[in-house]
Amino acid sequence: MEARVGVFVCHCGTNIASMVDVGRVVEAARSFPGVVHAEDYKFMCSDPGQALIKDAIARHQLNRVVVAACSPRMHEPTFRKACAEAGLNPYLFEMANIREHCSWVHEDREAATVKAIDIVRMAVAKARLLEPLQTRAVKVEPKVLVVGGGVAGIQAALNLAAAGIKVIMVERRQSIGGRMAQLDKTFPTLDCSACILTPKMVQVAQHPNITLYTYSEVEDVKGFVGNFEVTIRRKATYVDPDVCTACGVCLEKCPKKVPSEFDEGLATRKAVYRLFPQAVPGKPVVDRASCTYFVNGKCRVCERFCEPKAFRWDDQDRLVKERVGAILVATGYDLIDASSLAQWGYGRYPDVITGIEFERLNNATGPTGGKILKKDGTEPQAVAILHCVGSRDRNYKEYCSRICCMYALKFAHLLKEKTRAAVYNFYIDMRCFGKGYEEFYHRLLHEGVKFIRGKAAYVTDEAMSDEERGRLVVVAEATTLGQVVRVPVDMVILASAVTPQRDALEVARRFGMGLSPDGFFMEKHPKLEPFSTATDGVFLAGACQGPKDIPDAVAHGAAAASTAMALIARGEVEVEAATAEVNEEVCSGCKVCQDICPYGAIGFDADRRVAVINASLCKGCGTCVATCPSSAIIGRHFTDAQVVAQIDALFA
Ligand SMILES: Cc1cc2nc3c(=O)[nH]c(=O)nc-3n(C[C@H](O)[C@H](O)[C@H](O)COP(=O)(O)OP(=O)(O)OC[C@H]3O[C@@H](n4cnc5c(N)ncnc54)[C@H](O)[C@@H]3O)c2cc1C
Repeated sequence: MEARVGVFVCHCGTNIASMVDVGRVVEAARSFPGVVHAEDYKFMCSDPGQALIKDAIARHQLNRVVVAACSPRMHEPTFRKACAEAGLNPYLFEMANIREHCSWVHEDREAATVKAIDIVRMAVAKARLLEPLQTRAVKVEPKVLVVGGGVAGIQAALNLAAAGIKVIMVERRQSIGGRMAQLDKTFPTLDCSACILTPKMVQVAQHPNITLYTYSEVEDVKGFVGNFEVTIRRKATYVDPDVCTACGVCLEKCPKKVPSEFDEGLATRKAVYRLFPQAVPGKPVVDRASCTYFVNGKCRVCERFCEPKAFRWDDQDRLVKERVGAILVATGYDLIDASSLAQWGYGRYPDVITGIEFERLNNATGPTGGKILKKDGTEPQAVAILHCVGSRDRNYKEYCSRICCMYALKFAHLLKEKTRAAVYNFYIDMRCFGKGYEEFYHRLLHEGVKFIRGKAAYVTDEAMSDEERGRLVVVAEATTLGQVVRVPVDMVILASAVTPQRDALEVARRFGMGLSPDGFFMEKHPKLEPFSTATDGVFLAGACQGPKDIPDAVAHGAAAASTAMALIARGEVEVEAATAEVNEEVCSGCKVCQDICPYGAIGFDADRRVAVINASLCKGCGTCVATCPSSAIIGRHFTDAQVVAQIDALFA
């Protein structure tokens, strides 16, 4: 049947129209082969815009539609749906991106207009060769995997469980709680972190809809939206949780002490341990790497004192398989290695500490019982808090870590409350963006805290006066004074940059996600879908997507949960029809495609000696199409003929 193409050019307000002469694009489109109708509109994605397309399909008997607007990532589903509602197969629609690929990246209106015309001509050439494709509906497994048991993951899991959905939560540490469990008071309300968090942790452990796997990690993910199969490695704990009564005697008796990761190395824990006293679950695990029995074959003191006989020295890692319909990744954040920032003296001077170390010092359950003390056990007379340590700095992390200004203010308040120290905040500018945050800053202005506008250049112990002798000196350019200042102090707290987890790339690959340039997990759309990812059915929750404070992490977790909930409630999903297809007559059975497929979607029929594509797993990425040495694989919706027509149109 002859192609009757309709072209619809969007102004996108002024996003496109200010740089591209939309009228000329429409005029040019009218002359392209196959085009029977072309028009423009201010916002094609709006209701009237879509109505205009549907109306034109009926009036002009269009059998192909091209919309020249933004990225298909943004509105391809919108326009496909509009076409379907007008009775046109949605795969007979093609999108020409004249915003991200054109108006946004050019400054010359004439050149941008010519380019937009080229882009539309190419899209029309492809559209003429499009073929209708049929999507398939598949059932959704009514269960959700939550990876990471910080506050974001906890909130997501509890919301899902409250809606009656089964949840599997996987946390790699001995306990859930994440970073929030390490905090003492939380800004701006100064409410106790543990008081808010621990009840939620207990709810997770006790909820009948939640299965909690701590000391575990997801090792493999197969499948697709609605039907993922995950393999979880449950690390050997050497303690039978069904027998252990969590009495804690083994923790007392174990003779081996190692630095406590929870206390940031400021205190020790035993080789058999729980992460912290309020850990959930409360049953301890044996840290094989430091346990004397595993290191040199002797000890097992813990076992001698264990009344219920819960130790299992032959315990092994176990692989558990679970089928889930959706995955929420809530793996949180890390902090920049402060010892890599030599100018601020961390690791060189014992009383230069990180923010998270200060949290532990200040915590009643921490190494000093909540007293803010220097390494020599005395109280500091003056403390400097350095903002933006590694953040907003082209040498390290260009982005703002968002939480540091606020926790730096919180620290200043706590120092004033607990000590008689003079407190200096060295800042670039104060970013108090949340509800009640600016008010908290103003409160601090009246508490006698000294604010020095200027990033600290370095910390030294080289004295230039008697006042500085035996102390740390913070050197900074105070920009309001226009001069370099030297401030002698006894303790320096570094508000070190929030970073992605060290294994973010590995985790991203495992779950089919991308990374943003800053290294955090990439969301599908920064504004409209900051909790979705490029892989359908895989969602993001909390600070793994970018630095977040607790309210934002909780809101993000809840948003991700509600989106997963909607998926589960629908009961079935449509899987992409633009997948790869093998021409069996041409396939040589070399299996090159099998190794290259990033989604494990290609199998091999040994009898017929041909590659077989599992359409449910295939994402239509085209890697196999480009790789097949016999050109035996066709990318539906991106066939050679369609792509070549597109390229030829550029030179027409
Ligand atoms: C010094 C400091 C003070 C702060 N003070 C405040 C404050 O007063 N108020 C406030 O609102 N915010 C504060 N914050 C921010 C707060 O810590 C975060 O908002 C919050 O922890 C984010 O929660 P999350 O669940 O996204 O991540 P996290 O707390 O990082 O939790 C992530 C969880 O995922 C687990 N995990 C990681 N990788 C894997 C994996 N591959 N598999 C399984 N599990 C995994 C981790 O072990 C962890 O349990 C502070 C932060 C710092 C550094």
